[in-house]
Amino acid sequence: MKKTNSQHIPYQEHYRGRFAPSPSGELHFGSLLAAMASYADARHHQGDWLVRIDDIDSARVVAGSDKHILSTLEACGFQWDEGIDYQSQHIERYQHALDLLQQNHQCYPCTCSRKQLKIQGYTGIYPGLCRANDWATMKHNNYAIRLKVSNKQMGFTDRIQQEHQQILSQDVGDFIIYRRDQVFSYQLSMVVDDFYSGITHVVRGYDLVDSTIKQMYLQQLLGYPTPIYAHIPLAISPQALKLSKLSQAKKITCDLKTLVQAAQFLGQKILIDTDFENKNDFWQYLIRHWDINTVPRMEKQMVLY
Ligand SMILES: [Zn+2]
Repeated sequence: MKKTNSQHIPYQEHYRGRFAPSPSGELHFGSLLAAMASYADARHHQGDWLVRIDDIDSARVVAGSDKHILSTLEACGFQWDEGIDYQSQHIERYQHALDLLQQNHQCYPCTCSRKQLKIQGYTGIYPGLCRANDWATMKHNNYAIRLKVSNKQMGFTDRIQQEHQQILSQDVGDFIIYRRDQVFSYQLSMVVDDFYSGITHVVRGYDLVDSTIKQMYLQQLLGYPTPIYAHIPLAISPQALKLSKLSQAKKITCDLKTLVQAAQFLGQKILIDTDFENKNDFWQYLIRHWDINTVPRMEKQMVLY
């Protein structure tokens, strides 16, 4: 029998959504869209909406940007439930999940470097060279930990996009859940935190669609329920750059015009900004009329400033 820790935390049936920005810069239009879609969907379903700061990769954290993101969200009129969660405070949870996977022989230490793999001609999917590695013979910490993935077809129905199917062994390969630089992977930390927070619905950008089946597989191994997923299109500028902090997207001003523009991008039949007296008025309208079925079913969509 697989050991799980699911008995300690009752799973919530009530809608629980979340927004999980990484504090690597200020809130930009792309992350406003993810915040808005997850928030409006949660509130439309009388659900809770939580904010979690994805600060586990300390090398990418820009000091003070968590405060900037939160104050921008607040200025935009978002209201979150419960306290702000920080991933950097949950290392023990991640370790517990990793220990469980190790005890159940579902992961292994991998000593391959990207350079070595390249020299050996492996440039695509990791070929599982270290699958037979024995933990007991690892005398150093200089390894990553990979998950042994399944050769079964897995799939999910996205609330916005097409049906997604993957065979992890063919399409992804054994992926890293703990990095050589001693950081828990995005996939593992997200899955563990979503479980501990009782998240039932995930609404996020299309760039994360390929993470979903990896996360579902981890949920299965850890005995967690799988949330319901929706992926919104990414906003691209006319120069076709993804609107992310990395491409130095313009930081947003939290005025009604920007909020209306974001709602329109999300395909909501919204009026023009002058039809709202204030932001509160806007949010009431958006939450009441929110319809995820009208969000464009596409990977990306152009946005014009
Ligand atoms: Zn290896």
